[in-house]
Amino acid sequence: MAKPPRVCVVGSANVDLTVFTPRLPRPGETLAGRHFHMGFGGKGANQAVMAARLGAEVSLIAKIGNDVFGQSMLANLNGQGIDTSQIRIDPDNATGVAAIVVNDDAQNCIIVFPGANGCLAPNDVRDLANVIQSADVLLCQLEVPTDAILEAFRLAKAAGVMTILNPAPAMTLPDELLRLSDFCVPNETELELLTGRSLESLDEIRGAGQALQARGPHTVIVTLGDRGALLLGKDGQAEHFPAFPVTAVDPTGAGDAFIGSLAVFLVEGMPLPEAAQKANRAAALSVTRKGTQTAFPTRAEI
Ligand code: ADP
Repeated sequence: MAKPPRVCVVGSANVDLTVFTPRLPRPGETLAGRHFHMGFGGKGANQAVMAARLGAEVSLIAKIGNDVFGQSMLANLNGQGIDTSQIRIDPDNATGVAAIVVNDDAQNCIIVFPGANGCLAPNDVRDLANVIQSADVLLCQLEVPTDAILEAFRLAKAAGVMTILNPAPAMTLPDELLRLSDFCVPNETELELLTGRSLESLDEIRGAGQALQARGPHTVIVTLGDRGALLLGKDGQAEHFPAFPVTAVDPTGAGDAFIGSLAVFLVEGMPLPEAAQKANRAAALSVTRKGTQTAFPTRAEI
């Protein structure tokens, strides 16, 4: 059997604490919750879990706090076969958490506390240069400080390691980061912010994606929710993959399923359209089930 793809993720790890209540609380009000769920999230951890589920050897470079949530996080990641030996424990900051309230109409209020995620520094990344430089692909998002991501991309590029940037959540970026990205995979909102355009039609999205391409990445893949994904490759290649028709139950983490699986398929040498189409399928499967990491599909299902 071929060696499994080696994927290095530099990114966030959060614990999601979700309470379900009939309605959202008003200021000063105390409400009784009906259900409580603790889940594991953070775009970095999610994409790492998706890649591991497909059999990749995954290292996650992240920062957590010296607390019970951090310990649960490590246990969860270890249980998914992810190498957590590069995860640093910050003595001064709590593990990142998202406090979520969901009402009966599925409306939510979320407070994200980045905690230790916000303290991942370029130094932490530099210390782990060998992990990045011995990977087949480096995968990053923007839930940890941009200067740490920039450092990771510089190290990867210097060693000829493939780089994939998921510019999420939406924010402006230093041009250097885009120049160091081989692949950039935004959703529509992120593409709008990065290009300063408002986007509706597929033509507009293609134009904006190509403008992003001109700033560095040789390939841009725009994820379009229930409209699927748009691939913009070299030499003007543009291909739209409609979403797989599924009954959507919970779209949380669909983008992470798409990107985590795309990274694995690309390293395996799959032609670009096939890799995009398979990632589209993995993400569609993930929206048919509740939860985030628990909803990610296996290779057999894809
Ligand atoms: P994000 O989670 O970052 O907002 P998107 O909403 O663009 O990302 O979704 C990512 C991918 O998930 C899409 O490109 C598509 O493959 C898949 N997807 C999302 N929603 C649906 C849906 N309702 N039906 C089928 N596939 C979906």
